[in-house]
Amino acid sequence: MTATVERERAREGERRDWWPDGLEAMIWVVAAIGVALMLRSGSLQIAAPIDLVYTLGRALGIVAAVLLLTQVLLVSRAPYIERSVGHDRTTALHTRLGTWAIILMLTHASIITGMSAYYDGRGLLDQSIATFTSAWYLAAAQIALTAFLAVLATSIAIVRRRLRYERWHLVHVLVYVGIAGAVPHQFLEGSTFRDGGPAWWFWLVLYAFAFGSLLVFRFVQPLWRLARHDARVSDVTRLPDGSVSITVMGRDLDALGAKSGQFMLWRFLDRTRWREAHPFSLSARPTDTSLRLTVRPSGDFTRELATLAVGTRVLAEGPLGVFTHRARRGRGLVLVAAGIGITPIRAMLEDCDASEPCTVIVRVSGAEDAPLLDEVEDLVRRSGADLRVLRGPRGDGWTPRDAPGGLADLVEEVGGRDVYICGPLAWADAVEADARACGVPPAAVHRERFAW
Ligand SMILES: Cc1cc2nc3c(=O)[nH]c(=O)nc-3n(C[C@H](O)[C@H](O)[C@H](O)COP(=O)(O)OP(=O)(O)OC[C@H]3O[C@@H](n4cnc5c(N)ncnc54)[C@H](O)[C@@H]3O)c2cc1C
Repeated sequence: MTATVERERAREGERRDWWPDGLEAMIWVVAAIGVALMLRSGSLQIAAPIDLVYTLGRALGIVAAVLLLTQVLLVSRAPYIERSVGHDRTTALHTRLGTWAIILMLTHASIITGMSAYYDGRGLLDQSIATFTSAWYLAAAQIALTAFLAVLATSIAIVRRRLRYERWHLVHVLVYVGIAGAVPHQFLEGSTFRDGGPAWWFWLVLYAFAFGSLLVFRFVQPLWRLARHDARVSDVTRLPDGSVSITVMGRDLDALGAKSGQFMLWRFLDRTRWREAHPFSLSARPTDTSLRLTVRPSGDFTRELATLAVGTRVLAEGPLGVFTHRARRGRGLVLVAAGIGITPIRAMLEDCDASEPCTVIVRVSGAEDAPLLDEVEDLVRRSGADLRVLRGPRGDGWTPRDAPGGLADLVEEVGGRDVYICGPLAWADAVEADARACGVPPAAVHRERFAW
């Protein structure tokens, strides 16, 4: 029986591991088809070897367009991507392919401008001005390029760290301006997309799929859920450590398909907060009528959450993330939390199977650093799990100075278990390194990062 469960978990895990690579491979195949359709269109005149450079410029524009549409799809929060690839990997893919899209677009524009200047015997500046004034859609494409460059500049880590999240996000919205500016020249310049044919249909399907997903899952579905579930804040409790637990009640919440360990993007629809959606993990097992989140005050938004009025309507997008029991590979669990990272761990503990060994490790540096610990203690008592509370000042590793050295001392046969980690980044890195050193396979180490 046990062996069957493990084999089933391993198979399910392998299937899930395949998805991110499969999705990325599919994106490059679609880009290759786009280039093939362009080459097949018969519009290419290669009279001299230098014309190949122009063709390369056009091909790069095609690849950039596919990657741009991929960006729209990746931020659409479509469940078929979020559930198979996971939100953190989707975000990582979005960052990597988005950077490539902008680099390719820049190269495309530089080559096309350079080659047009060469063909027309003009300087680069004259050519750029001539392009800008020759047709509205070419001017729009140049403005789009400037918008994309602004997004790239603000996404570079060092700039991002200096910008407030909200400002960075606002600049990111320029991507939509960029896409709106870039699309017309793709259809109106050149002959690839004229006169119907396979290329026309290919792009039409791509655009419809990407923007359709965005429209459905970012706009229509949230509004539909707002009406269907009528979710409202039913309780706001301030915890002794300063965190706030917020209970949201609604109708038919099972239909959301939320699992312990997942997070949602929460938007509280009162006068001051409705514009901002913030990610918070579920801090209790979701039920058909209630969801709960627990928030530690850290900035403008979270500091004010204790003032949330009971009855406030809630728009929750998701559930998102794959930090759940479904991701398990081995037999037995180790749940490791520090600080507010205890929220998904607390929820997962509620769903632990009593027939499997489960050790919960909570790192606490002071009374102000122990949100939900009383609830965890209570759940552990009821479930028969092991609890190790590591109290004390920071040590050299992730455990306190005078505590046992690490996972090997704290957990029996840790190598065969799944290790779930949530807490401050550097601390969680140290736990992960320890788990790997104890022989836990990479696929059995699961992390939830509270930062994007
Ligand atoms: C997957 C995930 C799950 C999380 N779960 C919890 C939880 O259960 N409990 C909890 O207390 N915190 C959780 N967080 C962290 C929480 O989202 C941030 O602390 C909160 O959004 C900060 O908002 P602020 O305006 O108060 O702080 P600020 O000081 O304005 O922001 C602090 C940092 O939080 C991030 N942030 C701010 N606004 C947003 C936003 N709208 N979307 C995404 N990130 C943002 C940015 O990295 C920013 O630098 C989670 C984060 C993630 C990514």
